[in-house]
Amino acid sequence: MSNRIKALTETVRGRVITRSDSDYDEARAVYNAMHDRRPRAVIQCVDSADVMAAVAAGHDAGLDVAIRGGGHSVPGFGTVEGGLVIDLSKMTSVRVDPIKKVARVGGGATWGDVDHATYPFGLAAPGGIISTTGVGGLTLGGGIGYLTRSAGLSIDNLLSADVVLADGRQVTASDYQNEDLFWALRGGGGNFGVVTSFEFQLHEVGDIVGGPLFYDFDDAAAVLQCYREFINQAPEQLGCFFGWQIAPPLPFIPEARVGDLFCVLVTCWTGPPEEAERVLRPLRDVAEVKAERVAMMPFPAMQSAFDDLVPKGMQNYWKADFITQLTDEAIAAHAEHGKRTPNVSSSMHLHPINGAAQRVGADETAFGHRDKSFAPVIVGIWPNPADNEANIKWVRDYYAAIHPHSGSSGGYINFMSGDDDHRAADNYGANYERLSAVKATYDPDNFFHVNQNIAPAKGR
Ligand SMILES: Cc1cc2nc3c(=O)[nH]c(=O)nc-3n(C[C@H](O)[C@H](O)[C@H](O)COP(=O)(O)OP(=O)(O)OC[C@H]3O[C@@H](n4cnc5c(N)ncnc54)[C@H](O)[C@@H]3O)c2cc1C
Repeated sequence: MSNRIKALTETVRGRVITRSDSDYDEARAVYNAMHDRRPRAVIQCVDSADVMAAVAAGHDAGLDVAIRGGGHSVPGFGTVEGGLVIDLSKMTSVRVDPIKKVARVGGGATWGDVDHATYPFGLAAPGGIISTTGVGGLTLGGGIGYLTRSAGLSIDNLLSADVVLADGRQVTASDYQNEDLFWALRGGGGNFGVVTSFEFQLHEVGDIVGGPLFYDFDDAAAVLQCYREFINQAPEQLGCFFGWQIAPPLPFIPEARVGDLFCVLVTCWTGPPEEAERVLRPLRDVAEVKAERVAMMPFPAMQSAFDDLVPKGMQNYWKADFITQLTDEAIAAHAEHGKRTPNVSSSMHLHPINGAAQRVGADETAFGHRDKSFAPVIVGIWPNPADNEANIKWVRDYYAAIHPHSGSSGGYINFMSGDDDHRAADNYGANYERLSAVKATYDPDNFFHVNQNIAPAKGR
């Protein structure tokens, strides 16, 4: 252990885990098992002071530094070979103020932590669709989920953030303090500092009516054609995404159909329960529903309903775009490649970006693609590294077929793999230049570079 890292063990209240510790392998593991990296140390911070000390140690030791929130980054940005990991996974506290309807959330919390804390108050913050995903990375990239149409992206509900900067100071970013930093944090990923806590606007969400509708694969084109119109006009309290799904052995799947490939619409209605059936009716009429699990349930149950399909420790390779219009040609390409969906964890999800998310201006936050209609993500997840070539090929071939129809060169940064890092400028469109300028102000030496990197503007 270098002297600098040894000194850190005496400064921080959390743990500094190095190669000699018995739980080093556990501490260094991230969600995507493809990234089997061996950091010099994993610093499990418990407060802002620990984070400040870790940033200082990274500087002094001249080491690459990765920030880890929930560890779900598909490109593995939550770890780094030979460097320091600032691991926030012990900073999971969530404090709900039910009067103001806001929550203060630790920088390493998961969405499961947030939903657990807010549900008893009949409140929720817009997050993602899997409860084990980190609030940190998901929010800083944008944040797409069931509440996007009714309440906007996660960043649209961020009120303030406490951030440890590259120079080791902690500042607060909001509409009233460090406004340019606050703008950049809302979409710019982990480029600007370590967020030790987030403050979110909450919304009244308690029990919802939701779950998946399963259709025969042969009905996919009709379902997609219906979905692209429907989801633009449906009441905004409906969250709904399209996907492929090989049927797992679940009680609501007819036994003879387990293992068959279906297309699914996953619904989440947060409006009055008695209106759910009327709202969902067009989706039931478009084709015969072969299996379903639409029911009333607590919002946290909906949020964690698919966690078991995508466990930690699998191989992951994903690709993404934003779509201007879902054309018939694109639908044909989806059907062509969707039918080769290789296993139960892999899919393509088509998330709508409309409603409240489109009412925020393209330059109001760093998330620049507010005029796009969908964010598709091709999700390759499989257990065995021996199958990497075939699964990566499925994702790449699928992406090559749909990308020409997207009408956009950018995609959602949180749905991409490491070989998409060159797309950073496209992913922000007209906002990239300003992001680069803010990066030059707050991190001129690119200390935080283990991320989809925004280069600091030169000559500032
Ligand atoms: C199974 C699964 C489901 C997903 N579902 C959705 C979804 O429904 N909607 C959606 O929008 N996205 C979704 N994603 C994508 C997800 O948003 C990204 O993977 C995101 O980066 C995960 O954040 P994390 O904190 O878990 O990851 P990490 O690997 O910990 O971090 C990812 C990036 O964010 C930075 N970061 C994390 N926390 C902080 C912090 N506190 N301060 C500063 N930087 C930080 C890291 O440095 C890194 O660059 C999903 C991903 C997975 C694997």
